[in-house]
Amino acid sequence: MRRVVDVQVPVALDQAYSYVVPDGMDLQPGDVICVPLGPRDVTAVVWAENPSPNPRLDNRLKDVARKLDVPPLKPELRSFVDWMAGYTLTPRGTVLRMTLRMGEQLGPERVRLGVRMVGPKPQRMTPARARVIALLADGFAHPKGEAAEQAGVSPGVIDGLVDEGTLETVVLAAEPVARPPDPDFKPPDLYESQIAGAQMLRDSIAKGGYSVSLIDGVTGSGKTEVYFEGVAETIRAGRQTMILMPEIALTGAFLERFTARFGVKPAEWHSQLTPRKRARTWSAVAAGEVPVVVGARSALFLPYKNLGLIVVDEEHDQAYKQEDGARYHARDMAVVRGHIAQVPVVLCSATPSVETEVNARKGRYQRIALPQRFGGQHLPSIEAIDLKAEGPPRNRFIAPRLAEAVKIAIERGEQALLFLNRRGYAPLTLCNKCGFRLSCPNCDAWLVDHRFRRRLVCHHCGFSKPLPDACPKCEATETFVPCGPGVERLEEEVRVLFPAARIMVLSSDLIATVEHMREELAQIEQGHVDIIVGTQLVAKGHNFPKLNLVGIVDADLGLANGDPRATERTFQLLHQVVGRAGREAGRGHGFLQTHQPEHPVMKALIAQDRAAFYDAEIELRERTGYPPFGRLASLLVSAGDKHDAERYARQLAGIAPSHEDVRVLGPAEAPLAVVRGRYRFRILVKSPRAFDMSGYLRDWLSQAPKTKGTLKLEIDVDPQSFL
Ligand code: ADP
Ligand code: ZN
Repeated sequence: MRRVVDVQVPVALDQAYSYVVPDGMDLQPGDVICVPLGPRDVTAVVWAENPSPNPRLDNRLKDVARKLDVPPLKPELRSFVDWMAGYTLTPRGTVLRMTLRMGEQLGPERVRLGVRMVGPKPQRMTPARARVIALLADGFAHPKGEAAEQAGVSPGVIDGLVDEGTLETVVLAAEPVARPPDPDFKPPDLYESQIAGAQMLRDSIAKGGYSVSLIDGVTGSGKTEVYFEGVAETIRAGRQTMILMPEIALTGAFLERFTARFGVKPAEWHSQLTPRKRARTWSAVAAGEVPVVVGARSALFLPYKNLGLIVVDEEHDQAYKQEDGARYHARDMAVVRGHIAQVPVVLCSATPSVETEVNARKGRYQRIALPQRFGGQHLPSIEAIDLKAEGPPRNRFIAPRLAEAVKIAIERGEQALLFLNRRGYAPLTLCNKCGFRLSCPNCDAWLVDHRFRRRLVCHHCGFSKPLPDACPKCEATETFVPCGPGVERLEEEVRVLFPAARIMVLSSDLIATVEHMREELAQIEQGHVDIIVGTQLVAKGHNFPKLNLVGIVDADLGLANGDPRATERTFQLLHQVVGRAGREAGRGHGFLQTHQPEHPVMKALIAQDRAAFYDAEIELRERTGYPPFGRLASLLVSAGDKHDAERYARQLAGIAPSHEDVRVLGPAEAPLAVVRGRYRFRILVKSPRAFDMSGYLRDWLSQAPKTKGTLKLEIDVDPQSFL
C-alpha cells in the first residue's frame, strides 16, 4: 500500500493536493518538502495524512520529490494559516506562501575565510605589509576582507603574505544571525508607573497562556522600557519574542535602544533583507536560535520554535493593514496568533485604535497606564490658528503667528517641525487661462507635481510625465499654476522665510533605502537640522531631543474624505505629530492651522482631552453599528470596462443571501472611481458584531458567477480603506 499525504502548495489555492510518499521517506504533517507542480518543483508543506486516497487518482499521483532539512511547521503555525485564510477569505496557499519566505534555496553556508599570523616576517617588507602584520600581531584569526580594509591594503597584499608563509588562511565559523541578548545587560531605573506596568507584564508572562495587555501611555512616557521588561523575562524563560513595528525603516533608533538595554541588536525581518540573510534568519528562528525578532507585519508568519511573547508597537498604525494580496490587519492577526500559541500579547500606543480602547474599557484587555511623561516633562500645549481669521498671505501656507513661533524656536537653538501630509510640490496643476486640470490618463485623480523629480506623478498608479510645454486644451504656453501645497512647496516657502536655517524635507518618495532614512533621522537627532518639513513619516515614534515646536500646516486634510475612520485617523495622526515636541527639555508647543477650530477633533486635541475624543467616537460607532460594535466587509469589483464592472457588481449584490441582521449596501461607484484604467464599484456589507461574516461571505461567493475577462473581485474583511 502506498502512503499518500495531502500537501498545501504555496499558490493561490485553498485545497491541498495529494502526493505519494516515496519508500524510505519519513514524513509528518508540517514537514517542509519539495513537490512537482506543473513544470516545476515548489517548496510546500505536508498538511495532513490522507488515509484513503481516491483510488481513481491512484496512478496519477506524483511522488514527493524530497524533504527539506528544516524543522517542520508547528501545528500552532498551521492552525494560524488555516484560521487566517478562513477569516480573510484568502486562499490558504497564499497565506502559506507568507510562512515560506525563506528564499528558494537555503543552500549551504557560504565559506568565510580568515587569515592568521603563523610564520616569520617576509623577506621583503613594505609599509603595506607592515600594517597588516601590526594588525594581526594579536595572533587571532581575522576575516580576510576586514583585515585588508582595516590595514588599508588591497587583498593582494594579504595573498602575498600567505604565499610567503607569514600568514595562513583559515575557515571561519559562520557568523550567527543574532547574538543572544542579555536580559540583565543594562536594566533601567524605572519610575513608579513603569515599575507597576512591568510587574503586570511579568505576572502575565509568569501565569502563562494567552492574555492581551495594552500599554497605554502618553507620548514620551517610556512605553518601550516597560515592554522591554517583558522581553527580558521572556528571554530568561528561554522563549522567543516577536516585536512588530509599523514601518521597519523607522526602527533605527529602536535598534539602538534595544542594544543599549540588551547588549546586542535583535534580528530584523523585513522586505529589504538580502535573500541569504532572509534564508538564514528564517532557519535560525525555526531552530530557536533567535531570541528576539523585530519586524514588519510579515514577521507574523515566521516559524518560531518557542514563541513566548508578541509585542505590537504603535498598534493603532494604519500601516498594519495589508491592502494587497492577502488583506489582513497585522495587529488583529497578532492577537489571533497569540491566542493560538497561548502566549501573552502586548499592544502599545499613545492613541489606541477605537477597537483596542473598547476592548480595554470592557476589561477584555488589561490596561497598563503611563499617564505622565518620563522625567516629568510636560505634554506639549496646543493652540489653533483659525485660517479664516488669521491665515497666511495669498499663495503662502504658513500663517504669520506660526512663522513667528518658528523664528523664536530657531533663535533659541531649538528645532521646529512643520507637518504636511502631502508628498510632492502641489496636489494639482491647472491652466490659468482655460482652467484645464492635469489628470492621470489611467486614474480618476489629479497628477501631483513633484519638482524635485521634475515630473508630474499619479499617486495611485505611478504614471508620470514631465510638465507639458503647452496646455493640452487651449494650447497656451506658460500658463500652468500649482494649486495647494505639498512638502516640497512648503520647503520653498520655509527657505524664503528663514534663509539661514538648515532645512530637511522628510518624505517617503525622497528616501531610497532604510539606511538612508536612518541616516536622515540621526542627523535630526544630533541637532544638525533647524527646521524639519515632513509628511507622516515623521509622526511615528521618533525622539528628537531638540524639537519643541510643531506646526500642523493643514489639520483638516484627513477629515476631507468621508471615510468612517477619518476622525479617528486625524486624531491619532495629529496627536502623534504634536507629541514629538518637548520630549527632553523645555516645553513643547503645537499649532494647528485649521478652518474648523470648533471641530470635535480639534477641540479634543487642544483641550488635551483624549477621553472626550474616545467617548464621542465610541458613542457614535455604537449608535451607528460601526466597528467594533458591528462588522464590515467590502467587495470591490473592477474591470477595464465600466459596464462590465457595474453589471457584475449588480449581479453579485442581487444574489446576496438575505439575512435579517445583514445589510448589503451598494453597489456604488467607488470614491476613487478609476485606478490603473480599471473602473471600480464597491459593495459594503454590514452586520452585528456577533455574526460570522466570513461564513456569510463564503456562502454568498460560492454562488457568484465566475469573473471573466478583466473582471476582478477583491474581498476585504474589516476594511480600513473605503476609497
Ligand atoms: P514612548 O514610546 O512612550 O513615546 P519612549 O519609550 O520613547 O516613550 O520614552 C521616551 C524617552 O524617555 C526615551 O528617550 C527613553 O529612553 C526615556 N526613558 C523612558 N523611561 C526611562 C527610564 N526609566 N530611565 C531612563 N530613560 C527612560
Ligand atoms: Zn494613475
